[in-house]
Amino acid sequence: MGGGSIILKSPAEFAKMREAGRVVARALDMAGKLAAPGVTTKALNTAVEELIVKAGGIPTFKGYPASKRGIPDFPAAICASVNEQVVHGIPDDRALREGDIISVDVGVHLDGWCGDAARTFGVGQIGRKAKKLLEVTENSLYKAIQNAKPGKKLRDVSAAVQNEAEHNGFSVVRQFVGHGIGRDMHEPPQIQNFVCRRGERLDGDTPDLILREGMALAIEPMVNIGSWEVLVDKSDGWAVYTKDRSLSAHFEHTVAVTAQGPVILTEL
Ligand code: MG
Repeated sequence: MGGGSIILKSPAEFAKMREAGRVVARALDMAGKLAAPGVTTKALNTAVEELIVKAGGIPTFKGYPASKRGIPDFPAAICASVNEQVVHGIPDDRALREGDIISVDVGVHLDGWCGDAARTFGVGQIGRKAKKLLEVTENSLYKAIQNAKPGKKLRDVSAAVQNEAEHNGFSVVRQFVGHGIGRDMHEPPQIQNFVCRRGERLDGDTPDLILREGMALAIEPMVNIGSWEVLVDKSDGWAVYTKDRSLSAHFEHTVAVTAQGPVILTEL
């Protein structure tokens, strides 16, 4: 990843990504319907993996290599991140409970092209603050998507997420970011959910990048009720959780930048 060369896609290639994205959307719809008290995150994973394989796709996350040495490849088709978990939760025998929130992230390869999206679901009745977190995070994604058009800067996308989250009293995660996408799940550029203050700079940060027709962006706000700081679970090397254990939500779409404006590829 990083600010390296961005691979532009043709309309025919976007059409391929649209098909992969449709499978992602179906998988997320199913995960949302299944996410009820008593259901394990492993059961969600099994159902989603079956759906992807039946559709002729490959679950992109399964076997995805860790960025750090000594950590096993990601073992599942979905990331299932409950409550204070932000992203990259490994599905297990944990049963969902009334009032939990669960973020489900799904990647699919179909016919050589990738789609990637995430949604956070409430399990049964959820608290008022949790409900607001989900609404604001989803809104921040759609506000960011509105900026994904030729001539806009990448920073406009990032700022849209940050403004929506922070104006509502929440914070955005800094350590994990969105990304370009195409044949590979992770391509340049990195897409932050915040704008760096003067003097701040992240590796691969290209805020002044001007968006062009043919770019495909996986935009994925991760928003916390409390502080933006996160930690990685030392026991599995994958699950990311909020340092203050506050709730976190995650919404993501794969978006095509076209002459007609942004087109969401990961919906039905
Ligand atoms: Mg992603």
